[in-house]
Amino acid sequence: MLTDEELRELYQEVILDHQADPRNFGSLVAATHKADGHNPLCGDRVHVAVQQEDGVIKDIAFTGEGCAISTASASLMTETLKGKSIQDAEAVMSRFLELVTGKLDGASDLGDLQVLAGVREFPARVKCATLAWHTLESAIHQDHQPNEKEKQCRIS
Ligand code: ZN
Repeated sequence: MLTDEELRELYQEVILDHQADPRNFGSLVAATHKADGHNPLCGDRVHVAVQQEDGVIKDIAFTGEGCAISTASASLMTETLKGKSIQDAEAVMSRFLELVTGKLDGASDLGDLQVLAGVREFPARVKCATLAWHTLESAIHQDHQPNEKEKQCRIS
C-alpha cells in the first residue's frame, strides 16, 4: 500500500511526464471537429481536433500552451478517449468532471486520469484540468458554436 505522500509523488510524476512528453500533440489533418479553449485565469490555451467516424473518435489530437496541469490533462484525455465511441467518451468526461470537482471520491475506472484528482483542493486549478475536456465537448457539439459569453461560463 502506498502512503498518501508516495501517492502524491507518483501522481506528480505522471503529470510531469505528460507535460514533458504530451501524447497526441500536434495537428490532425483528417479532423472533422475542432474547437479552441482558453482559461484566462491561468493563461492556458488549447486547440482540440477530433476525427469522428460512425460515432467513434477515430483520432484525436491537441495543441496549445499552458501549465503542467492543463497540458497533462489534455494529453491524458486524448490517450484515454482515442478509439472510444462518442457515447463512452461523454461518460468518461462526466465521471472525470465529477472527480476533479470533488463530487466523486474514487474512480479506479478512470485509470491514469485519477492523477488529476488532487486539483479538487485548488479551485483555480480545476479550470486548468477541465479546459481540454470542455473544449472537446464544444468540438463534438460544434453544430452549436457557443458565443463569447457562453464560453466564459463554461470555463468559469
Ligand atoms: Zn493552468
